[in-house]
Amino acid sequence: MSFYEALCQIVGKDNVSRDVLDLLCYSHDLAPLPEELLKGFGMLNPEVVVRPRSTSEVSKVVEYANGKNLPITPWGAATWSLGGVLPIEGGIVLDLSGLDEIYEFSPGDEYVRVGAGLVWKRLMDFLEARGFEVGVHPTSAPSATIGGFIATGGGSGVGVTRYGPLGDQLLSLKVVLADGRIIDTDPWDSWFFVGSEGTLGVICEVVLKIYPRGEMKHLMYGFDALDQGVDFLQFLNGIRPYFYSFLDKEFIRFLNQKEKDLPEKEITVTVTLLGTPEEIAMYERRIDEASRGEKYLEPIAVEEWEERFKVVLSLKSLGPTLFSQEIRIPIRFLGDILVELKELLKNERYLIEGVGGDFGSINLLPVIMTDERKESEFFRTFPLASHIAEIGYKYHGCIYGIGLYNTSYLPRIHGDSLGIMRDIKQAFDPKHILNPSKTTQMRIPAFLFNAVPKVMGSAPGLVLAFLKVVNLLPRSLIRTGLRLMGGKLR
Ligand SMILES: Cc1cc2nc3c(=O)[nH]c(=O)nc-3n(C[C@H](O)[C@H](O)[C@H](O)COP(=O)(O)OP(=O)(O)OC[C@H]3O[C@@H](n4cnc5c(N)ncnc54)[C@H](O)[C@@H]3O)c2cc1C
Repeated sequence: MSFYEALCQIVGKDNVSRDVLDLLCYSHDLAPLPEELLKGFGMLNPEVVVRPRSTSEVSKVVEYANGKNLPITPWGAATWSLGGVLPIEGGIVLDLSGLDEIYEFSPGDEYVRVGAGLVWKRLMDFLEARGFEVGVHPTSAPSATIGGFIATGGGSGVGVTRYGPLGDQLLSLKVVLADGRIIDTDPWDSWFFVGSEGTLGVICEVVLKIYPRGEMKHLMYGFDALDQGVDFLQFLNGIRPYFYSFLDKEFIRFLNQKEKDLPEKEITVTVTLLGTPEEIAMYERRIDEASRGEKYLEPIAVEEWEERFKVVLSLKSLGPTLFSQEIRIPIRFLGDILVELKELLKNERYLIEGVGGDFGSINLLPVIMTDERKESEFFRTFPLASHIAEIGYKYHGCIYGIGLYNTSYLPRIHGDSLGIMRDIKQAFDPKHILNPSKTTQMRIPAFLFNAVPKVMGSAPGLVLAFLKVVNLLPRSLIRTGLRLMGGKLR
C-alpha cells in the first residue's frame, strides 16, 4: 500500500490531498521568503496534505509517519511570518484546522476545553455571549488557531501585561508525541510545548483558563517628544493595564495615507483598562496624571481598539511586502533602541509598532515596506533583519520566534543551552520527524550566513544572480552542498 493510501485509510480520502495547487498553498506562510532563497535553503516540496478531525486520527497519522520515517509539519492557520509552517523537509503537512470544536465550557471552574485548531475569535465570540473572556489573545485572533499561538510562545498579545503569557493560562494540553502516543499534561508540563514551534509534539486539545467578563475602557495619547512617550510607556509597564501599545510617527503617516486622520505625533499610545468601574476610574486618573501628552477623545481610542486586528495588515497595499523582524526587549532600554532603529532605517520606508509584554518587556515590530516582486530591492532590505536583531541583543533583548527565518541565529538565541535544546529535541523526537530542521538545527552554515547579509546589503544583484545559478542545480545537489559546508539538514 502506498503511503497516500495508508493516510486515506486513517482520515478518509476527502481529507488527504496531493493536488498541485494545495501543495503550493501549503508551501507558504506570511513570511516574505523569495522562491530563490527557499530553493537555496534546499527546501523540499510537501508530498501530501492531511486534515485529521480528531486527536485519535492525529495520533495514527503521526505513528504511521514515525514508522515510515516521514517528516510531518503541524499547520494551524499559517499567520506566523517566520516560515515556521513551511514543510522544508517535504513529507506530510498536518493541517489541524479540523480540530476546531469547543468540547466543554465550565463557567463554575472557569475553563474551556477546545480543539487546538479552533480559531481564537470563534472562542472569544462564544465566551462573550456567555459573559466570559480569555485572558490572552493574539491580534491575529480572526485567523490564528489556539494551538498555533501556544506553539509560537504566546508571549506577546492582548492581555499579556495583565495576565502573563499564554503558558500561564494553560491548565492542560492533550499532545500527540512523535511516536503517536497521546499524553495529557498538567499546567507545569504544558510549558514544554509553549513556543516549541511544532517540533516536540502536536497539540490537539487545550484546557484554557477563562475569566468573567469585566468592563473595559480605551484611552489614547499622543506625544510630540520621543522621550515623553517612552517615559509614559515605562509608567504603563509599571501599572500593568490589560493592554498597551504604541505606533511611531511613520506608522501614523502611513495610516493617514490610507484612510485615517490622526495627529502625526512622535509616539501614539493606546491603553485598555479592564476591571470594575471604580478600578477603571482610579487607573485612568493615575494614567492621566502621568501623561505629558495630548489625550484623544474616547471614540478615537475605541475605534483604534476595534481595529486592532487589522492595523498592520491594512497597510499591505502600500508595501506590498511588509518585511519585519520582531524583537522582545526590556522596556528600560526602549528609548535607546528606538533611536538606533530609526537611524538604521532612516533610508527605508518603515514603521514601528510596540506591544506591552510580560515581565517588564515590550515587543517591537519594525516593519520595512518593500516589494518582494522587485527582487534586487527586496534582497537589499533583507539583511536589515539581522541588524535589527543585533540592536535587540545589544540591549539584552532577543528575537521573538525562530521559525525558518531565524534558524541561523540559533547560537545567539540559545547561547550555551543550544546543546541542551538539541538533547531535548532528540529525547522527544529521536527520528526528527516533527517539523524537522527548525528551532535547533542551523540549515545554513554559520560562515555563509554571516557573509551573505554583508554582500546582500551592498550588492543584492550579485547574491540574486548567485542564487539563480544555484537554483538551476538539482535540489539533491544543493542539499548535499549545504551538508558538506556544515549545514544541518534532516
Ligand atoms: C496581523 C497579525 C497580528 C499578529 N499578532 C500577534 C500577536 O499579537 N502575538 C503573537 O505572538 N503573534 C502575532 N502574530 C503572529 C501569528 O499570528 C501568531 O503567532 C499565531 O498565534 C500563529 O497561529 P497560527 O495558527 O497561524 O499558527 P501557524 O502559523 O500555522 O503555525 C506557527 C507554528 O506553530 C506550529 N503549530 C501550529 N499549530 C500547532 C499545533 N496544534 N501543535 C503543534 N505545533 C503547531 C507550526 O508548525 C508552526 O511552527 C500576528 C500575525 C499577524 C499577521
